[in-house]
Parts: sequence; C-alpha cells; structure tokens
Amino acid sequence: MPEVILPRTFAMIKPDIISSGREEEVLNGFNIAAQKKIHLTIDEAKSFYKEHEGKPFYETLTSWISSCSPIIALILEKEDAVQAWRQAIGPTNSIKAKEEAPDSIRAMFGTDGSLNAVHGSDSLESAEREINFFFSTPNGSQPHILVTQDDI
Ligand code: ADP
Ligand code: MG
Repeated sequence: MPEVILPRTFAMIKPDIISSGREEEVLNGFNIAAQKKIHLTIDEAKSFYKEHEGKPFYETLTSWISSCSPIIALILEKEDAVQAWRQAIGPTNSIKAKEEAPDSIRAMFGTDGSLNAVHGSDSLESAEREINFFFSTPNGSQPHILVTQDDI
C-alpha cells in the first residue's frame, strides 16, 4: 500500500516549557515526523528569527532562545498541519491566549508576550523554510523520516 504523506509544519518547543519538564504534553494529536533537541547559538537564533530583525524584542528573543535551556525542533504532520498547529498553540501573547483561548498551548504553558512556550510556522512557505533551517541534509533533500538525537 502506498505511504500516505500528510502535510507538515515546523514547531519548536521553547526554553521556558523545556525547563518546566512538560514538553511532552503539548504534542497531542500530531504525528512527529522528526525531532531534534539542540542548544542554539546566538547567531543561529538570530538567523532563525531574521524576519524580526530591528524589532524591539529581537535581541531579548534571540538571547533567550539561545541561552538557558536547549530547544526541541520538530516536524509535525497532520491534515492542514500549519493551520492546525497555529490553532493548537493560540495567540502569540500568552496573556491574551489565557483570555481568548484558555485551552491553547500558549495559554496553558506560556507566561506573556515573550515567554510563550512554543513556535509554529505561520504559512506553508515558512514551514518549508523553517524545516530546512533545522533538518536539511547535505544533498538538500528534506527528511521524511524520524530523526532523533541521542539526548532526547
Ligand atoms: P508567533 O510566534 O506567534 O508567530 P511572531 O512571529 O510575531 O509571533 O514573534 C516571534 C516571537 O517573538 C513570539 O513567539 C514571541 O516569543 C516574541 N514576540 C513577538 N512579539 C513580541 C512582543 N511584542 N514583545 C516581546 N516578545 C515578542
Ligand atoms: Mg511568527
């Protein structure tokens, strides 16, 4: 039987939720196609969030993402993966999420507009770019396999 290929999105578990030890609780209902636990350098964090360069929160965001704890980068699969994951995580600001989407991941695990537990791609194009950022292989192909690192 041919393999069913589901749409994919990119997710990141941010340092605040990892240090709480509750990172496993948020992925319910999504198939994990690949995951990698890594400690980003400041330059990698700046490159990942390049679209926000120059904004007031850019320096704080990139130092936080590259300091304290590692992050977990994930390729998630599901029908309408990009939209489904954005829906699951809720609004960017966890304070707003607690008011408007109390069951969302950012409401349950985040703190405020900065410390918000998780990342989710905002479009199919962002998803492909962000998947490539973390998971591209030397020959440029994208993985459709489970990639794990020893320290997960
Ligand atoms: P999202 O993660 O919902 O796509 P953005 O792409 O706008 O949101 O922002 C990227 C990340 O930068 C957010 O998840 C959050 O951690 C941080 N951030 C966004 N806006 C602010 C802000 N006004 N103040 C502090 N941090 C922010
Ligand atoms: Mg974004």
